[in-house]
Amino acid sequence: MIEDQFPQDFIKREQAQLGDQWNDFVKAHQQPSPISIRYNAFKSSLPFHLQKVPWTRNGVYLSERPSFTLDPSFHAGKYYVQEASSMFLEQAFTQSNDLSKALNVLDLCAAPGGKSTHLLNLINAESLLVSNEVIQSRAAILSENLQKWGLSNVVVTNNDPKDFQRLPGFFDVIVVDAPCSGEGLFRKDPEAANEWSQDNVALCAKRQRRILNDVWPALKTGGILIYSTCTYNEFENEENIHWLQQEFNVEPVRLNIEETWGIQAIETPSFFGYRFFPHRVKGEGFFIATLRKLDEQPESRVSTKNIFTEPSKKIKDQLAEWVVRSDQKIFINRNDRVQFFPKGKNAEIELIVKNLHVVLAGTFMATIKHDKLIPEHGLALSVELNRKMFNTIPLERVEALQYLRKESISFIPNKKGFALIMFEDLPLGWVNVLENRLNNMYPSEWRIRMK
Ligand code: SAM
Repeated sequence: MIEDQFPQDFIKREQAQLGDQWNDFVKAHQQPSPISIRYNAFKSSLPFHLQKVPWTRNGVYLSERPSFTLDPSFHAGKYYVQEASSMFLEQAFTQSNDLSKALNVLDLCAAPGGKSTHLLNLINAESLLVSNEVIQSRAAILSENLQKWGLSNVVVTNNDPKDFQRLPGFFDVIVVDAPCSGEGLFRKDPEAANEWSQDNVALCAKRQRRILNDVWPALKTGGILIYSTCTYNEFENEENIHWLQQEFNVEPVRLNIEETWGIQAIETPSFFGYRFFPHRVKGEGFFIATLRKLDEQPESRVSTKNIFTEPSKKIKDQLAEWVVRSDQKIFINRNDRVQFFPKGKNAEIELIVKNLHVVLAGTFMATIKHDKLIPEHGLALSVELNRKMFNTIPLERVEALQYLRKESISFIPNKKGFALIMFEDLPLGWVNVLENRLNNMYPSEWRIRMK
């Protein structure tokens, strides 16, 4: 019986929470988890034939689970594999913000990057996303996934939430997708049920309050906090929101949802929260609430002093040809590695670099070696790449996988120099075509190991 796989304390509590829906909840756990992906609007249009996730523009369900690792398009950043309920972030974000404005957005608990890749498709080009992950190894995966996504108005940081107090009132929006007890993932990951305990729920709730309290000063007056978990219990959800309301001056934001979506709206005069149950939606368990900060918050002063070093004019002129809209970018040279990001965000990025541990700022573009430029992988994946400047080598799936495994490729084109490996019209990375061999430049630490 599936119920045997749930912890007893969890069953008691959920039976009380769900009442006569309990049997449907149990039955849903006997069904396979739905499979969903979200397309990168900058790299692909949405296929017509697939069933859409109703609360997001670019999310679709797949009828079966392919091996994503063995799909070159996945490595080109064409789509992100994401559980459907989490895509509801789009409603919380778009309904609570003026998207025509330049926003500073923080995704505080961001790895592996589901919410961050989504946010990058929602904010405008003048906005900046700071995507943070406290665990170093996870921050590296986050950085990889964001480079694949290909946008340059993003900074990846590896900091504890309290470090953001160095940036008071800096953010218009903070997303806290909190580490939680994971009750909503029992179907997808049965191991989560073995690790569950009442004590762990209490521990998670306490940690979530600490995270919220620590990051609170970084949100500006009138700014939006989006809080989410993938768990059902009230301790980590409603009670934490009530605690925030007691500690700080906040206003709950009500979201419009369609009845057919099956989401459970918890709406009282002082509280709006939205809960996702797997027997009511085509997705896993999830909770989300949106709040506006009303506290008076002094703000960081963005300095105009330039701490970044630009490359020489000669190098800059050459690099300017490698990207589109080069006049809107700033090129930065740090230890002979050139990065670019939107010009308008220079001051903000400087402030972040001065105060936080930055893993990635914008797009890695090229390394300077003896006055020569070697293109970086980030540039190949960038939606700003000027493809016309490079030779391209289209590969079929089997060879594309060889390339992604960093194996040698036998095909040697006539034209020498750096070339882009393409799969179905999207770049996968670089090769250097030499006299009688081809140098595979795919980053070793990213190469796929699955056979
Ligand atoms: N937002 C991510 C996404 O959509 O792909 C998933 C985030 S996951 C639910 C929570 C993240 O919080 C994990 O990456 C975890 O490493 C991080 N985390 C764990 N402890 C934390 C803490 N004390 N403060 C901040 N983040 C923490």
